[in-house]
Amino acid sequence: MDYSNRVNSKKGAGGIASAEDQNVHSKKRVQELLATHILDIDNDPYVFRNHLGILECKLCLTTHNNESSYISHLGGRKHHLNLERRRILDEKSRQQQEYQQRVQDQVSISNVEKRHWKKIGKPEYKVVKVRDPKTLQLGILITVKYPNISVDEPFFRLMSYFELTSKNQNASMKFVQNQNQDGDDEDAEDAEDDLEPSDVQYLVLSAEPYDNIAIIIPNKNEIDKPQEEDKMSDTYWWFWDNDTKEFFLQLMYKS
Ligand SMILES: [Zn+2]
Repeated sequence: MDYSNRVNSKKGAGGIASAEDQNVHSKKRVQELLATHILDIDNDPYVFRNHLGILECKLCLTTHNNESSYISHLGGRKHHLNLERRRILDEKSRQQQEYQQRVQDQVSISNVEKRHWKKIGKPEYKVVKVRDPKTLQLGILITVKYPNISVDEPFFRLMSYFELTSKNQNASMKFVQNQNQDGDDEDAEDAEDDLEPSDVQYLVLSAEPYDNIAIIIPNKNEIDKPQEEDKMSDTYWWFWDNDTKEFFLQLMYKS
């Protein structure tokens, strides 16, 4: 390989060039580099111009008063050595990342069993308004039939609008809008009574292999239920009848 035309050439220079010759040579080289876009300061990740207007090589922590000095540096041994070091470091961290990814993949494949079942559609359900004969509290009794249930028993959760996924929020929005439109024909002046999605709660019932269902229940009055989760009371209770495969849930509002 012939090094004699390189900037900062040490090998085969063929005698000592005068300072002037060297300068002319460098200038020519800079022009060549500029013309061929090798000195592309905007796209060189290692060079930046500091607040004094001086070029710095971030890779080698060197400073350069002008572009030709920086170009000389680019051709120099120090910069090449640091480039090579950086390349090796990058390669190492890439391999490290790949390794970690492989470990993660193995963990997720072996440890997490994906649940999948063939959904068989929505269960049959019934919602009845109820009133406690003694306290006269109003409430709701929900019955859901799960004849082909494959889990021990159904589970349910009361959710607010804000806990829903955006997809279900949209579905809820549509439902509420339809409700409001239906009512408008009869008493248009009751516009202030229009339901807002946050005026209702969502009772989500789940039992594989059935699709989840959500029953929209009014939220204007507080539900009369124990403070603790999963606790029942006279007004708030549920029951899974494993013989008839029916699930009952009753809730009452505070009067
Ligand atoms: Zn450098």
